[in-house]
Order: sequence, then C-alpha cells, then structure tokens
Amino acid sequence: MALMTGEQYIESIKKIKMEIYMFGEKYSNPTESPILRPSLNSVRMTYDLAQMPEYEDLMTVVSPYTGTRVNRFTHIHQSTEDLIKKVKMQRLCGQKTAACFQRCVGMDAFNALFSTTYECDKAHGTNYHENFVKFMKYAAENDLTVDGAMTDPKGDRSLAPHAQVDPDMFLHIVERRPDGIVVRGAKAHQTGICNSHEVIVMPTQSMGPDDKDYAVSFAVPLDTPGLFMIIGRQSCDTRKLEGTTLDVGNSEFGGVEALTIFDDVFVPNDRIFLCGENEFAGMLVERFAGYHRQSYGGCKVGVGDVLIGAAAVAADYNGAAKASHIKDKLIEMTHLNETLYCCGIACSAEGHKTESGNYIIDLLLANVCKQNVTRFPYEIVRLAEDIAGGLMVTAPSEKDLRDEKIGPYIDKYLRGVATVSTENRMKILRLIENLALGTAAVGYRTESMHGAGSPQAQRIMISRQGNLNAKKELAKAIAHIEE
Ligand code: SF4
Ligand code: FE
Repeated sequence: MALMTGEQYIESIKKIKMEIYMFGEKYSNPTESPILRPSLNSVRMTYDLAQMPEYEDLMTVVSPYTGTRVNRFTHIHQSTEDLIKKVKMQRLCGQKTAACFQRCVGMDAFNALFSTTYECDKAHGTNYHENFVKFMKYAAENDLTVDGAMTDPKGDRSLAPHAQVDPDMFLHIVERRPDGIVVRGAKAHQTGICNSHEVIVMPTQSMGPDDKDYAVSFAVPLDTPGLFMIIGRQSCDTRKLEGTTLDVGNSEFGGVEALTIFDDVFVPNDRIFLCGENEFAGMLVERFAGYHRQSYGGCKVGVGDVLIGAAAVAADYNGAAKASHIKDKLIEMTHLNETLYCCGIACSAEGHKTESGNYIIDLLLANVCKQNVTRFPYEIVRLAEDIAGGLMVTAPSEKDLRDEKIGPYIDKYLRGVATVSTENRMKILRLIENLALGTAAVGYRTESMHGAGSPQAQRIMISRQGNLNAKKELAKAIAHIEE
C-alpha cells in the first residue's frame, strides 16, 4: 500500500474501535470529540506533509526493508544523514503544528527495538528480531502510526517492580501460554495513543533477575480487548468545547495524553519482542530514551520557532518592535532555540552503526540535548511572556469581542498599533498563552521537563557517558603529574 493521505489516515483511525474515557464519557474514536480532534490533526500533519513534493526528501524515504517509499516516521535509520533528516523533519512538523505531533515515539521505539532484538537473539537464540522486522514492515507498508509506551506508574520509587505492594505497578506477564502471553499493568502519560493504529510496549527501566516477568516488549493494535485509555486533563481544555476558536489560541492542533490500561491483554507469540531476558531491558530503555532525547532537539525547536515568531508579532502589534531590549530578547530566544537544534544535529552527526546495521545517535550528546530542553523552553516562554505583556492573560473572551454592545469598547481600548485590528492582537496573544499556559504547554513546557525522561535521568546518563577518568588523565598529562 502507498503512503496514506491525511484524510485516509483520519478514516483509518475512525475504523478502529477503541475504548477511550474522558470527562465521564466513553468514546470509540478520537474524531468524535472536539477536545481530541486537534490532537488527531497534529498526527495528520505527518501524512499531509509527506504528500507535498517540497518535503518528499525529508518526510519520506525508500525503505531497504520494503523496497518502497515509506513515511520517515516508520523508517529504520541507515546513516547519520538519516538521523539528521529525522531531526529536520521534526522541526518542520513542530513549525506546522505548534504542538506535539506524536508519531516520533513509534519511530524511536522501532529503531531501539531493531538493534536490541538483534543483540538479544544473538545472546539467547530467541527470534525477536524476526518478529520485530515483520511488524516493522507491516507498519511501514501500511503507513501506520505506532505509539511507544514506556512509562509505568512505578508505585513506590524505592522498590523494585517485583517488590511493589501491588505487583501491577509495572506492566508484567501474568500468564505464559503456548500461543502467547497475557500482560497486566498500565502505561502513564501516553501521548498520541488514541491517534495510533498500534502500540509498542517497552519496559520502563533496567530489570534485575527477580523482575524477569517485567522485562517484556510487544506490539498490539489499539482495539485489542482489555486495552483502554483514560484521557488526562489539560489547562484550558474545555475552551475547545465553547464553539469559538480565538480563545483556544491554536484551534487546529494539539496533543493529548492518556493513562493506558492493559487489563489482562493477550499478545500472540509473533508480536513479542522481549519476554524475560531481563538484561536487555536496560539496553532497550537506554536506546529508546536516547533516540527520543534526540527527537526533542527537533520537535521542541519547531514549536519554539512558532513561539518566537508569535512574540515578535506581539511586539509589532504593541508598537514595541524597535525597542532595543525587545530586539535583544528575541535574539536571546533565538539563541536558546538554535542551541537546542545544534544538540539535535550534533548527536545525529556523531551517530554510529549498531551491530544490527541501523544507526544510533551519540548517547552522551543526545542526553545533553534533552537536559538543555528541560531548561531552555522555560526561558523562551519567560521571554515570550515578557514581550507579550499582561494582556495575554487578562484579555476578554471572543464572545465579548463579538458582542454588539461591549465589543466596540474592547476593540477600541485593547488596540495597540492603530493599523492592526484588536482581533489580530488578541489572536497572537492567545497563541502565546496557549503555548505558555494552555493545552500546548503540556507539549512545550512540562513535556520539555519530563518527556523522554526527567532531568535526573539524563544526568545519570551524562555521568555514565562523560568519561571523567579520561578527562583526569588529560589534566594529569598537561600538569606533568606522574603517580
Ligand atoms: Fe515527537 Fe516531540 Fe511529541 Fe516526542 S514530544 S512525540 S519527539 S513531537
Ligand atoms: Fe514526548
């Protein structure tokens, strides 16, 4: 099958009978809800852009596994050039949606599993690589969106998975059958899961010998019995139910997260990618996290581009664009944003081939990338709020702006530069509000902190990969120290 158009993607999601819960209601697909629909539109962009000739090289690639042109989001990276193009593609998608477009998690899971299953098979004589390649080809040929589910609820953080009071705090195998396994547990903060055709489940951390039942990875479709989603709330989410667009800030795009429950879900043998080989859980986590930390050097930069642009437009509309401190703040925002991009490109350019043949990023640089992402978007948002002014949080509603009696007063008194309509001024301020404090703040701010691992997780990797001993030797050599 060829690449799907955006419309075909939406139709394909409509056909999947999911079990979604939100605000006390049950939905069978995300197209039914004005809260979920913008998030679906963000994923749709990964299909729409792939149809445009000007983005063909970035968004699509001829797969050596299928022999056909596939969407890059289903690709196994064949070179450092592929890794760099991935980051550029993500920046583009961030620019076009100003939201999390969700499809990267599956791509990152694909590439982490490709190499990990290969190495696990080599050590254990298992057949996970074959299972995985079969699944990967199916997803690539059918242009599917695949989610990646890693984060377990984790319960008491001081206890290992098997030692938890409730054994389900980490997803685990509860039954082994001749034809497959049955799993139970949950995955938290699952961005984009209700917009996906399939989900890949991975362990959340490295596992010891007592945690073999927790060292499990597999893929199942979203309509699998026992799998259901509980959508998380976002700041300002119900504005999407008001029937107006201005107050939403970004009415077309968004992202949503779900607590996803696996209530005794059956996984057939050919969909299993790891099943008890506990020493490979850590490798899978480390590689997936590395790829996703690289990803943030693309997606968050693209969204940052929109936020910087919005702040500059707000300055224009306020008549403040020529003030030197405003110019300087925009330069600082750009500097911070491009620094993140440098990290994304650098960890890609410094990537290398794995034993299985695909390419992986430089793990140290990818972790440095994400560590910077836990900080710089906060500073970029702070500067955007500074430039925007207080009106971004005190402006009246669109309904009041449209009101016959009070609308003209709002139009008169909330005008900045006389040639710019008050409506346009409110639109740009609402967009900044959306990115800084509203529904998109989940994807741009707090996800920058905790997505792809919280800051401490990167610091552990930086300490492991930083090779301090080699640096000590350098210093001793320069200082002519002989011990
Ligand atoms: Fe992609 Fe960024 Fe969303 Fe992760 S946070 S899925 S990298 S857009
Ligand atoms: Fe993320």
